Amino acid sequence: VSEKQHTLAQAAEVAGTGLFLGKNARVRLLPADPGAGITFVRTDLPGAPRVEALATNVPPAQRWTALKKGPAEVQMIEHVLSALAGLGVDNVVIETDSAEMPCGDGSAQAWVAPILNAGLREQDAPRRRINIDRPYAIVEKDVAITAAPMPEGLLITYVLDYGQMFVKSQVHTLLVTRDSYIREIAPARTYVLRPEVDAFIKMGMGRGATPENTVVLEQDGSYSVPLRFPDECARHKILDMIGDLSLAGAPFNGRLVGYKSGHGANGRLARAIMDASGK
Ligand SMILES: [Zn+2]
Repeated sequence: VSEKQHTLAQAAEVAGTGLFLGKNARVRLLPADPGAGITFVRTDLPGAPRVEALATNVPPAQRWTALKKGPAEVQMIEHVLSALAGLGVDNVVIETDSAEMPCGDGSAQAWVAPILNAGLREQDAPRRRINIDRPYAIVEKDVAITAAPMPEGLLITYVLDYGQMFVKSQVHTLLVTRDSYIREIAPARTYVLRPEVDAFIKMGMGRGATPENTVVLEQDGSYSVPLRFPDECARHKILDMIGDLSLAGAPFNGRLVGYKSGHGANGRLARAIMDASGK
């Protein structure tokens, strides 16, 4: 059975504050044609410049994922991309009036609910699926992310390990399906270590952070808010991986393992897979 491409059945809207800059953003997700993929449009800038959600448009990563093409720049796109990939949306135009995506509760829930409400529409075009036919490994110092072929499905393992620090290690493995994504991954929130919080504040970042949208891992081993899952942090890393790896430009089957990896390594793996796919 050949899979079909999907877009949204109607527009969906998400408004809210960005995590790092703390500015309000209004974002509209609009249906798009088969083969169009995912494109961001900065409606607040002259000429409404566009940038495609592809690994070729990712500038060097920081603590979050961005896209940049000419004047079109968007930040913190990993959670909306994760929701779209997790729910199986291939084609969508994302209009935004701000550079930074709203952070919602720090998880992907702020995107999942409106997308499910809008509904999906099957399109009369086969879904392109990238064939991972060899292993990949991105290794940088003590960080690694690997991808290996798997005939069917996407299996992701994340190993969270801060070594000597106060954060207990976590491991989570998930076979990603629409249902498992909604249930096991989408609710997992962003987290930050206490020593990082002060550094962010000094840099003028984290202005949109609240106790509700950011789990702080305290130095005594406790958490600033009750966790939704004992391994919520590792699950959030998988949420980010699903979003970042969608920048390869199409879904793929495979077995992914992330060890201490983040947006930088994710972006490089997405780029390697995209380049090998011939697109
Ligand atoms: Zn994240």
